[in-house]
Amino acid sequence: MANRKRLALHWKILIGLALGVIVGLAVNQFWTAETWRSLGVADPASYLGSKSQYKASIAEGGPNEGAGVIAMGARQVRLAIGFAGDLFLNALKFIAVPIVLFSLIVGVSSLNDTSRLGRIGGKTIGIYLVTTAVAITVGLVAANLLGPGRGFDQEQRELLIAKEKANADQKVGSANEEREKTVWKVLLDIVPTNPFGAMANGNTLQVVVVALLVGVAITMLPREKAEPLIVFFDAMTEVIIKIVEMILVIAPYAVFALLVRVIADLGTDVLLSLLKYCAVVVLGLSIMCFAVYPSVLLAFTPVRYRRFFRAISPAQLLAFSSSSSGATLPVTMECCEERLGVREEIGSFVLPVGATINMDGTALYQGVAAVFIAQLYGMDLTIAQQAQIVLTATLASIGTAAVPGVGIVMLVIVLESVGIPLEGIAVILGVDRILDMCRTTVNVTGDCMVATVVAHSENALLTEEEVIARQQAAEARGLDEFTKEQEEREKAMD
Ligand code: ASP
Repeated sequence: MANRKRLALHWKILIGLALGVIVGLAVNQFWTAETWRSLGVADPASYLGSKSQYKASIAEGGPNEGAGVIAMGARQVRLAIGFAGDLFLNALKFIAVPIVLFSLIVGVSSLNDTSRLGRIGGKTIGIYLVTTAVAITVGLVAANLLGPGRGFDQEQRELLIAKEKANADQKVGSANEEREKTVWKVLLDIVPTNPFGAMANGNTLQVVVVALLVGVAITMLPREKAEPLIVFFDAMTEVIIKIVEMILVIAPYAVFALLVRVIADLGTDVLLSLLKYCAVVVLGLSIMCFAVYPSVLLAFTPVRYRRFFRAISPAQLLAFSSSSSGATLPVTMECCEERLGVREEIGSFVLPVGATINMDGTALYQGVAAVFIAQLYGMDLTIAQQAQIVLTATLASIGTAAVPGVGIVMLVIVLESVGIPLEGIAVILGVDRILDMCRTTVNVTGDCMVATVVAHSENALLTEEEVIARQQAAEARGLDEFTKEQEEREKAMD
């Protein structure tokens, strides 16, 4: 036992993910409304609330009691596991603001030359906009070539619309608020009127601005005044990193919980009827993730495929499980800075900005979804309309929060810009969550890629050897510290 080899974090998370899918499928068998209906319960919602209601229905000659109790049990499992997943997400969100704030202040105040900031900012935003536009183009091309919506059964279309109508109307309603934002308003909103408000609301871009201002101002102070501040913020960054490390230890269990919930809630029948559409989205996302990004890295940096994916895989797996690049941000920063070797001054700026304005996966998905819905209604999109989609989706991606499901709200704006019927959104809503998981993974991967490119161009990327040496030197505060301590205790007991 003493020589037992420790499993790498990404393997542990992968195992959690696989087990989550298996348990989720089992729960799904018993908990979905469809299952209740097939058990003879006409209106499942009225039974899900209370056991006594369910019992009353039995007294009236309702469904088979045994099956109902299993369903009730499955629901409880779903709720309990969902709670565990939420607890983990809360912990991640809780550190997102402090980690951006403290580490960016330290990063900026340690820059000897603050004029570098403008250059880094310009490069970052420029690359983000280009990759977003490339992503939508990949989506549009894939959807045009493969035509997932061509020949789609009209009856099936109406059925799906009827099922999700209320939900779709709500998304269109949320888009109204977004639509009212002009580009100027979005830009104006980046500068907070109250720095504490920015932090309290968890507005990442605003927190970035606060940190930049504080960091630059610190560099202007006399050395004896600046020094203690830098020491303080540096120590606070270390504290937050410790918390991220603790959170990563429980990540495999949390990923299990998150997956059980998603799969338990999944309508498998809807998934089957939209299989071709889902396949095109996943194909486009895979091209972006496994072909476009590695090619860019190959062209502009010394980072190769294996090194890149090995380093960022915990962040990718977490993005997949949580569907939120915002919640994943602390782990993305940890992976890029500690495992990939992107220096703090670059990572702590490029990654939070990317979590908000760079959503390549979401953009690609919008390209496919727009063409798919147009095809459902027999519309042929002209080249000009598709160019309009590229423009609208790129602009819409700036200033939208990195939380689950915003992609579909942005899609409303994209569809409207070229006159595609909005009710088509209802057709794809049933599979949105699962595609959200996939696109969020690409969103996070894109951020990591850009951070690597910018870091290399600024001479702020460690070599692989340097990363390994640093990890070995900092073994005591490694990612698996807790497991290690436990191993040492076991060793002592042996
Ligand atoms: N969930 C995505 C993210 O957080 C955004 C979306 O596509 O809905 O990156």
